[in-house]
Amino acid sequence: METHEINGFRGRLITADHADYDTARALWNGAVDRRPRLIARCGGTADVVAAVRFALDHGLEIAVRGGGHNVAGTAVCDDGLVIDLSAMRAVQVDPAGRTALVQGGALWGNVDETQAHALATTGGIVGHTGVAGLTLGGGIGFLMRKHGLAVDNLLAAEVVTPEGSILRASADEHPDLFWALRGGGGNFGVVTTFAFALHPLGPTVMAGPVFWAADDTTDVLGFYRDFAAAAPDELGTVVRLGTIPPLPVIPEELHWRPAIAVACCYAGTVEDGERAVRALRRFGTPLVDLLAPTPYAAFQGGLDDTVPHGWHYYWKATDLTSLSDEAIGVIADHAYRAASPRSYAAMFHMGGAVARVPHDATAYAGRDVAHNIVIDGVWLPDESDEHAAAETAWARRFLQALQPHSAGSVYVNFLDSDDDTGRVREAYGDHIYRRLAEVKAKYDPDNAFHHNKNIRPG
Ligand SMILES: Cc1cc2nc3c(=O)[nH]c(=O)nc-3n(C[C@H](O)[C@H](O)[C@H](O)COP(=O)(O)OP(=O)(O)OC[C@H]3O[C@@H](n4cnc5c(N)ncnc54)[C@H](O)[C@@H]3O)c2cc1C
Repeated sequence: METHEINGFRGRLITADHADYDTARALWNGAVDRRPRLIARCGGTADVVAAVRFALDHGLEIAVRGGGHNVAGTAVCDDGLVIDLSAMRAVQVDPAGRTALVQGGALWGNVDETQAHALATTGGIVGHTGVAGLTLGGGIGFLMRKHGLAVDNLLAAEVVTPEGSILRASADEHPDLFWALRGGGGNFGVVTTFAFALHPLGPTVMAGPVFWAADDTTDVLGFYRDFAAAAPDELGTVVRLGTIPPLPVIPEELHWRPAIAVACCYAGTVEDGERAVRALRRFGTPLVDLLAPTPYAAFQGGLDDTVPHGWHYYWKATDLTSLSDEAIGVIADHAYRAASPRSYAAMFHMGGAVARVPHDATAYAGRDVAHNIVIDGVWLPDESDEHAAAETAWARRFLQALQPHSAGSVYVNFLDSDDDTGRVREAYGDHIYRRLAEVKAKYDPDNAFHHNKNIRPG
């Protein structure tokens, strides 16, 4: 590349000699350290078109950055061009039509704008996660059992293709591309705008976690299995196993204590929500019960400080067909063996509206899964390589022990790099993977967008 000028580009171009370079290349996962040649911080769709064309004309590797949260760090590449959408975070709500237009670099915290109209759509459980990467992989969250995955609420997307054309994908326009975007990740182009369906919610909902001591894990999970199986679609739950995070809302004497939490969010009235969680709150002897009528937007941001930017993270994940006694035994046995008090595992209860969408209606593969679990090894930037090795080994051992209980699939957005690269086909299964490969061959035959959970053109 001779020049750092991109014709017609009106955003910011950041190279290694800029003061902001290190901040601009940093990702949520501080363990990722890549040095792109150029970061093109786009101001709009035209900038994205210019950046894609420039990269291909100059034979540059392309990475696409939405929220920068993918644990594998695929949003930044070495020596290539990062198409950075972090300045494109606008959210435009149509309250009457119950839809929102969300730009491709928005974070889920930005989508809380919809709460000004007491509307919401299924999003991630942490506010600083990107809308783009999360949605393109499927998008699981507290509202999914009632309203479906993020992709089930996607009405249309504006996409910049490898040739630099701007396409609109929806049920009626480029339906094959629209199918693939709903689970197939960033393989088909750069999504500059998402149109989502919204649903009435809150603004106050019955939500929050209940914590029990780690010693109670087997009993709590045994109860939770039946409680979750009988739960109405309105009730979304996520189990967190690790230590109690040192949040101001939690009594200080409980901070860092090993514990199991069931976090709940009821997508209906507070009164119905109170009824739906009553048995859970009465189970055993909770250490602390934070379930209460809460503004939905505040609840959505409640976990943000527990997984800050810059810590080092390593993930392992799998889908579980059921929570058998044996699977519960493995979880109870491994969850608290990490050396770091920051490491944890999170288990999402699936089903409900997610399972009612036909399996091949979108490219998201895990429709019939009961729970999915992600095991997160965490260590601090100034901790030694031994710490990294210990947390990594813990996550791997935990996953290995769960293998006999795995559904044989994995949520693509929970895959890490390196030792997970070969698991992309496992994430989709042969049928969906083959169909994705056909769409890839049509829209990105040269695999220009390969710095991702890659689908090879087939
Ligand atoms: C703290 C945390 C909490 C999470 N919670 C959830 C959760 O509740 N539910 C859930 O489903 N997942 C969750 N995830 C996983 C999350 O879905 C993925 O990490 C996802 O990749 C994040 O999206 P992003 O835009 O921040 O990704 P980035 O790191 O910016 O991008 C990842 C990849 O997505 C693609 N991409 C990004 N932006 C675009 C775009 N505009 N157009 C085309 N391709 C693009 C690119 O291929 C890129 O390599 C969580 C992750 C973290 C770190």
